[in-house]
Amino acid sequence: MKTVVQLSAGVRRVLAPNPSMMTGPGTNTYLFGEDAVAVVDPGPVIPEHMDRIRKLASQIDWVLVTHTHPDHSPAARALADACGAELLGMPPPPTAHQDQTFTPTRVLGDGDVLETDEFRLVAIHTPGHASNHLCYLHEASNSIVTGDHVTDGSTVVINPPDGNMRDYLSSLARVRDLRPDALLPGHGERITDPTAVIDWIIDHRLAREAKVQAALATQPNATAADLVPVVYQDVPEHLYGWAERSLLAHLIKLVEDGRAVVDDRHYTLLPE
Ligand SMILES: [Zn+2]
Repeated sequence: MKTVVQLSAGVRRVLAPNPSMMTGPGTNTYLFGEDAVAVVDPGPVIPEHMDRIRKLASQIDWVLVTHTHPDHSPAARALADACGAELLGMPPPPTAHQDQTFTPTRVLGDGDVLETDEFRLVAIHTPGHASNHLCYLHEASNSIVTGDHVTDGSTVVINPPDGNMRDYLSSLARVRDLRPDALLPGHGERITDPTAVIDWIIDHRLAREAKVQAALATQPNATAADLVPVVYQDVPEHLYGWAERSLLAHLIKLVEDGRAVVDDRHYTLLPE
């Protein structure tokens, strides 16, 4: 991927140099506007990346984050302080793997709008991958910054308790039903067929849910760990730790849907 790309009028993407198994090519930072700039997801604290962002923008007035995982938000506070910018987003929940340095000067909620002479960004609350996850609709290009709600070319982790599969699926449908022309993911390239991609993700998750349900039908009173080798036969064993988190998210959804019960981490299907 190229480091700096002009995606459309007033929309630029800068790739942070933090590639890994979880981040793909790295974290995407988006810049909206030319004169007064809003930066979305400045990524981890990497001086080289922060310098690049500052050189691309004459004036940064707002720093926004999609959510507060360590690959998306830790540079936000430092960048906002250095530029005198406003810090916008939702505060981190008190769970593990959250950037607790992110303390927004303005807390955004669903439907809140950042409006300038050059652009309008509308916040869309999309819990699922993270309870405080926001997507941002850039109205002029009808594209949506999706953070880790939808990424390009990989499946995102739904890690309970902050991650919630039921919320995730309804947030996916919500973004799809806004009929965007493009998605600007937190990792990977721009997605130009949002409906097809989101439908595929929903189908993929529901297919996995069906496998969980089938496994639980033959193995009542099972823990998530008990079911991993059955449900994730297609996943290499070194990924079983993450698979177990996602499997737990599916089990919790079955309980929330009224299709299973749980007793001290042991799950059993209810008769249909
Ligand atoms: Zn994340």
